[in-house]
Amino acid sequence: MTDLPDLTSDCSQCAALCCVGLTLDKGDLFSFDKPAGTPCPNLDGHLCSCHDQLDEIGNHGCVLYDCAGAGQRVTQLRFNGESWRDDPTLLPAMIRDFERLKPLHERMKQLTEAETLALTEALETERQRLLRKCARLWADTPTLASDYEQFLSDLAHHARA
Ligand code: SF4
Ligand code: SF4
Repeated sequence: MTDLPDLTSDCSQCAALCCVGLTLDKGDLFSFDKPAGTPCPNLDGHLCSCHDQLDEIGNHGCVLYDCAGAGQRVTQLRFNGESWRDDPTLLPAMIRDFERLKPLHERMKQLTEAETLALTEALETERQRLLRKCARLWADTPTLASDYEQFLSDLAHHARA
């Protein structure tokens, strides 16, 4: 079976990249607006100061969010455990890498979870081929292969088909 990275988010090993990198839009899932690249005002260090009250404050979107392990991958392996908190000049590169790697982790998680579906033999063969390709691309980081963006686009096409 293909060797895959850890696809479970481990926020204790991450520099809160989702709480900084993502846009929050006030509405059903979030109670306030926050632009991408700006630390959430509820952050305390790398931790959410209202983690136990996310539903109460109207941020159910934070409860639902899962980076599939991309956050700790970027923080620990791309930036050797450093954080934008200690060196703000790292922030743009950390957010850029998180944005780039997150879709790959999400696709690997989806493809892994698809193992439980009653796929035809042909689809199962294709699922395994895509997972192997994902794993190769993942192993290519930090450089990310030149066909990375095209591959993500192809995967999105697969998901819609
Ligand atoms: S980016 Fe992922 S690992 Fe980091 S804080 Fe967000 S959910 Fe946790
Ligand atoms: S409310 Fe908490 S979990 Fe949600 S973005 Fe802000 S710091 Fe992160």
